[in-house]
Amino acid sequence: GRYYIDPDEEVVRLMEEKKRSADEHQRQLEAYRGKESVTRGGQKVKLFANIGNPSDVEHVLKGDAEGVGLLRSEFLYLGRDSYPTEDELYNAYRKVVEGLQGRRVVIRTLDIGADKQADYFQLDKEENPALGLRGIRNSLRQPHQFETQLCALLRAAARGPLRVMFPMVTDVEDWDAAMHIVEHCRQSLRERGVPFNEKTPFGVMLSVPSACLTAEEFVAHGCDFLVIGTNDLTQYTHAADRELASAERYYRPASPAMKKLIAMVLEAAKAGNVPVTICGLAVGNPVNTVQYLQMGLRSFSVSPQNLLNVNRTSKNGQ
Ligand code: PEP
Ligand code: MG
Repeated sequence: GRYYIDPDEEVVRLMEEKKRSADEHQRQLEAYRGKESVTRGGQKVKLFANIGNPSDVEHVLKGDAEGVGLLRSEFLYLGRDSYPTEDELYNAYRKVVEGLQGRRVVIRTLDIGADKQADYFQLDKEENPALGLRGIRNSLRQPHQFETQLCALLRAAARGPLRVMFPMVTDVEDWDAAMHIVEHCRQSLRERGVPFNEKTPFGVMLSVPSACLTAEEFVAHGCDFLVIGTNDLTQYTHAADRELASAERYYRPASPAMKKLIAMVLEAAKAGNVPVTICGLAVGNPVNTVQYLQMGLRSFSVSPQNLLNVNRTSKNGQ
């Protein structure tokens, strides 16, 4: 995170030392490649990768992940001047599904708004975009675009194990509204005679505290799986901007408050017998991983470069 312009000898020495120790750490991690992730007590820990682009699939395979726990679908929408078509989306998703060779992928529907913008989205200017119409809130306001993405996802799910999740869900009303549109898409694909997977699993990405506090309602309304998104959940629980370095002291992904919310989600998942995965940058930090393991989480999704580290940490869990 720092640049040294014209560094003196001491800085060069320190940086070389740092690089040596990073290389050594990486070398030690290599021993975990190809090894199953299990706790000391013999419990299996599922490790998935978070990716933002189909080209990352090779890192998922190299890193030995069970699949993709989070594919951020924004890559198909940003850096262009018009919405992608259903076929463009379908082909991109299909490529990911096929590239994963039978491993699972969870694709998150479009999470634009806040920091992710393009002119053609024509979003209203907001004073406080992190609390505005992000993610599913925006998708529900633009049902036509949402349907295009959902139809492409339902079609790609016929090619392999693909799951869909909605970001920035606040309460079960969001879920019901989204699933109503999903049903409409299924109907339209049937009428068009286009092959798709009728049984595609749908889930909620829990990144807003109100959603965690009412997790059982999603399960009661047919949600197939839950994913805790620690990046945003930490931000919204602690009212601390995740990008603001000066607010770092308030940004605590493993705080007692986060533990309570996660425990509620775990309880709802257990009672309703649905799987729960935790993802986000914090999960790649061994101190947090240990805490999440102690809480009973057994499914993690981390960036590909953290896979081996989390595999190693899971071996220290009970
Ligand atoms: C999250 O919010 O925890 C997350 C993993 O998603 P993103 O970083 O894309 O907001
Ligand atoms: Mg998020």
